[in-house]
Amino acid sequence: MLGAPGTGKSMLAQRFPGLLPPLAPQDALESAAVLSLTGAFAHERWGQRVLRTPHHTASSVALVGGGSPPRPGEISLAHHGVLFLDEFPEFQRAALEALREPLETGRIVISRAARQAEFPARFQLVAAMNPCPCGHLGSPLHACRCTPDAVARYQGRISGPLLDRIDVQIEVPAVAPAALAAAPDGEASEIVAARVAAARALALGRQGSVNAALSGGALDTHCALDHASSKFLQSAAARLGWSARGFHRVLRVARSIADLAGCDAIAPPHLAEAIQYRRVISRP
Ligand SMILES: [Zn+2]
Repeated sequence: MLGAPGTGKSMLAQRFPGLLPPLAPQDALESAAVLSLTGAFAHERWGQRVLRTPHHTASSVALVGGGSPPRPGEISLAHHGVLFLDEFPEFQRAALEALREPLETGRIVISRAARQAEFPARFQLVAAMNPCPCGHLGSPLHACRCTPDAVARYQGRISGPLLDRIDVQIEVPAVAPAALAAAPDGEASEIVAARVAAARALALGRQGSVNAALSGGALDTHCALDHASSKFLQSAAARLGWSARGFHRVLRVARSIADLAGCDAIAPPHLAEAIQYRRVISRP
């Protein structure tokens, strides 16, 4: 999420776990097991998805795990839950780069001298950042005083390979208080959660896994595109310079958008929406 301070990015992140389906018993067991290693498990929270919100001053070890003996970090404590990183560019570079591997594999291997430990780390990353160092770029309420160079340097702290693994980038715009007061209330979490559960059930019924886990032949089969859609996606990929990973990630997001709409086939509007979620943060 890219937006000025005070636009509600943290509030949105806090609501996110409430949109996810309840944990399956096996997943609840795994979550409880990892949390128990650090004494963070609470019985009354059994079966609920965890929200972990480490501060940007957290060390690489605190974030991804480490030490002797190796202990799980925040990414593992957030297993099957949500990891919210506010002020994303302010995290240590090494800590951010260490997220790349677990974002792909859902686990983390920690090597310390002669010892090696592996922890699960299948978390949903939610990150928030200001658009520029002063925070007001694009705001109708305050003037931004940052030079284009400073903006590029700030956004550039999120490396290309890390950004490549972030499927949905959104702008959270600053809104004048008067407009905010006049805006209608949004949907309640339960209504959105019901839509999410239905889309997830559709994916599980079709392919036995969530869309994020589709790869190889299963990705080809369940994200098959007709000729027009295929040409549309390929020209976007060429124009925007995506890696093969980026291409496949857009395809999975489009599959989810189609599922949310109850459509069997992925069509150009689903692809167009998935493509624009990948274009918010500027890259030199
Ligand atoms: Zn600024």
